[in-house]
Amino acid sequence: MKIGLVGSGYVGLVAGACLAELGHEVVIVDDDKRKIAALQRSECPIHERFLPELLQRHGNRLLAFTSDLAECVRRSQVLFVAVGTPAKEDGRADVSYVESVARGIAAAINDYKAIVVKCTVPVYTSQWVRRILLLNGAPEQLFDVASNPEFLREGSAVSDFLYPDRIVLGVDSDRCAGILKRVYQPLVDGSYYSRVDAIPGPATGQRTARLICTTAKSAELIKHASNAFLAMKISFVNSLAGVCEAVDADVEQVCEGVGADSRIGHRFLHPGIGYGGSCLPKDLLAFRAVAQENGCNFGLLDETMRVNQQQLHRFLAKVHKALWTLKGKNLAVLGLAFKNGTDDIRESPAISIVNALLGEGCLITAFDPAAMVRAAEVLPQQSVRFAPDVYEALRGADACLVLTEWEDFGALDLARMKELMRYPIVIDGRNMFTPDRMEAAGLNYYSVGRPDVAGVRHSSPFARDSSACGVGATNLESGSAKAGAQAEPHGIVEPHDRQP
Ligand code: NAD
Repeated sequence: MKIGLVGSGYVGLVAGACLAELGHEVVIVDDDKRKIAALQRSECPIHERFLPELLQRHGNRLLAFTSDLAECVRRSQVLFVAVGTPAKEDGRADVSYVESVARGIAAAINDYKAIVVKCTVPVYTSQWVRRILLLNGAPEQLFDVASNPEFLREGSAVSDFLYPDRIVLGVDSDRCAGILKRVYQPLVDGSYYSRVDAIPGPATGQRTARLICTTAKSAELIKHASNAFLAMKISFVNSLAGVCEAVDADVEQVCEGVGADSRIGHRFLHPGIGYGGSCLPKDLLAFRAVAQENGCNFGLLDETMRVNQQQLHRFLAKVHKALWTLKGKNLAVLGLAFKNGTDDIRESPAISIVNALLGEGCLITAFDPAAMVRAAEVLPQQSVRFAPDVYEALRGADACLVLTEWEDFGALDLARMKELMRYPIVIDGRNMFTPDRMEAAGLNYYSVGRPDVAGVRHSSPFARDSSACGVGATNLESGSAKAGAQAEPHGIVEPHDRQP
């Protein structure tokens, strides 16, 4: 089928490449001309597994890029809208980009189009898109508007798109439903999965995708409700971690038992430094606004957001507990992306933590396998050093903070880590290591929802006492014992002026 996709961001680009992978002729349009020029040069603008391969496989054949919306509209039977829907000041979703695209489609429409809203939007958006098209002169018989929310996760977006838990089609017309079913046919009948060149999927070997057909309104709510539930699960486990810390229990053990209940499940039951990214924070705000506007009190959403915010403060308190004073401390930060597998730093809790630590006068040397370029754009210039690899980030550090759950971090050589650091202190916001292992490696280890461990024993009380401060604070004063080991990091990518 001839498909047009408006918006070449994380969703639009992945969806477009995957639809080409299913055999459709896809044109992706974006009003960001620089982005389009880069895509036309076959450059992949985001870090996403399998995406470069798909762009390579289908570029110049089934996949094309343009800034010309009108041309894209005229040649396409189906038009997916995947532009951003950021949060406004008051928390409501800014759907002005969607409206602008609707006006552009109306201006160019020449024959029947299925117009499919793929962005995450408040309920009634499809109705509004229809109204805008009519107001701008699009003849009623030339289009239908549907909702097809996207559930991909950054970091595994391509596999998620091609091996979805479900495909939700919110359609209010049979003609449009028929067209959309044809778009997704290779996933629903499983023919894609028998291809020898299919992108690998989850190990469980899914063979068909489940299609759920609803009204457009229900589809819009399914997306908001799904994200709200996931955020709620994260805030639940983070609150649970707080209780575990208070009573000296191990949240990982508790979650093993809780998640074994098939009604609950293990997924999203991992404590950390809170959720972030371009979706959950804004979608919760938007969903709460939808509820409020319609006279419904959805207090669970407020509590979920409150707990998430609190989780950042709890982590910073852990850093204080481990280091006592922060001014002038050299901290190695491992991870800046909001999650592993992506270079996306939008609403990343890691970035918030780095900013808070800079505010306390810390000196930060950071490493992230994918997100350093984007992080450098938002972090205060000259304030953060970016190391070329994880071990360079650790060299001479007073402590190491793990802020993103990149798998490689869990496989670090702990002996080398300890050797490189000035003090053997690890504050792990993602529970990447087991306390036993860290203790055996001689590291003082603070994680989330588990007892602290002291790999290095000190005369002062440590670990279980929340008023204690890890390695005796005086040991961390500048000029103390291992000061000679505070070598200037080698191979640092961007030098900056160290604060006094
Ligand atoms: P993004 O910001 O990465 O990309 C949006 C793109 O739309 C940008 O490239 C922008 O230039 C383009 N754009 C904006 N207005 C345009 C216009 N008038 N014409 C052409 N192009 C225009 O956003 P994203 O992360 O891809 O998210 C898109 C939508 O999908 C949002 O509603 C988001 O909530 C939803 N969503 C995102 C994810 C995710 O993981 N990122 C997952 C599911 C759903």
